[in-house]
Amino acid sequence: MTARLLDGNLIARQIRESVAPGVASFTAQAGRPPCLGIVLVGEDPASEIYVRNKVKAGTESGLRVDLRRLPASSSIEALLRLVEELNRSETHDGILVQAPLPATMGKSAAQSVFDAISPAKDVDGFNPQSVGLLVQGRATLAPCTPSGIIEMLDRSGIEIRGSRAVVIGRSEIVGKPMAMLLVQRDATVTICHSKTPDLPAVAREADILVAALGRAGYVTPDFVKPGATVIDVGINRVTEEEAVRRLFGRDSPRLADFAKRGSIVTGDVHPAVASVAGALTPVPGGVGPLTIAMLLKNTLSAARARAGLA
Ligand code: NAD
Repeated sequence: MTARLLDGNLIARQIRESVAPGVASFTAQAGRPPCLGIVLVGEDPASEIYVRNKVKAGTESGLRVDLRRLPASSSIEALLRLVEELNRSETHDGILVQAPLPATMGKSAAQSVFDAISPAKDVDGFNPQSVGLLVQGRATLAPCTPSGIIEMLDRSGIEIRGSRAVVIGRSEIVGKPMAMLLVQRDATVTICHSKTPDLPAVAREADILVAALGRAGYVTPDFVKPGATVIDVGINRVTEEEAVRRLFGRDSPRLADFAKRGSIVTGDVHPAVASVAGALTPVPGGVGPLTIAMLLKNTLSAARARAGLA
């Protein structure tokens, strides 16, 4: 069997097209476009790329994207002051602080930021109030990566209701909210993590397997029930040629990519899973574009709700 590839770029485009009329009517009614404030601290190369993609996608969809930069040496207090300014702004509808924050800000910096962002503008859905609403099944702003995955399953005709779903990873930003959204859609959900015994056996029970652990190629065919849908959330940079060869084989075009760039990006799912799974998301071009599309959708929702147009 060769898995059907679920095209994240295509589905993201469909979501963005569905957002466009809402952006146009909000702009007409409010006299300004919905506005997303993005805060980027420092110059992490991967974050630069993510933020550039968010600015581009937002602008192309008719949003105003206000990128605020802080130097890597900034204190957490300076960052929280900027968040507070954006919270108070009349014209900013959504606020996103790009992760990761510099280690010098301290271990609890990301949580302090999530706590500080106004729930009404919390387009990432990480504020404790947003998390509480999500758990109770009444989220208005759900985290973008897991809600993008739900959209992808729906738009690909994959039945969630009644399915067995296994989520590998229990992070606040992917694993836990993913499990919540799946259970609310009537899947029977198991959450696995680094201490789960016999992970492949648990994963093999899944009709829908979500891999969000951040380990390149970790999920091998023995984790996958034949015909299962496998969602690969991982974004891992592989910087050793031998590792690329081990994962993709000696004749893979990925080796040419590696030669050009000195690294490649790959998911948590091993390429050999394509011969067992029924459907599979590629990396890149799978879950990543959906995350951005859902960010735009959330910004429009936040703008509407703030303007009383919801
Ligand atoms: P994280 O490091 O916060 O969490 C990883 C989770 O995986 C932890 O709960 C841990 O218990 C579990 N884990 C780690 N090793 C494991 C193992 N060997 N067996 C079982 N469980 C294990 O990571 P995260 O923020 O949830 O991100 C996960 C991956 O998804 C990363 O590669 C990240 O870059 C990627 N990501 C992608 C998107 C996207 O838009 N595609 C968005 C967010 C994160």
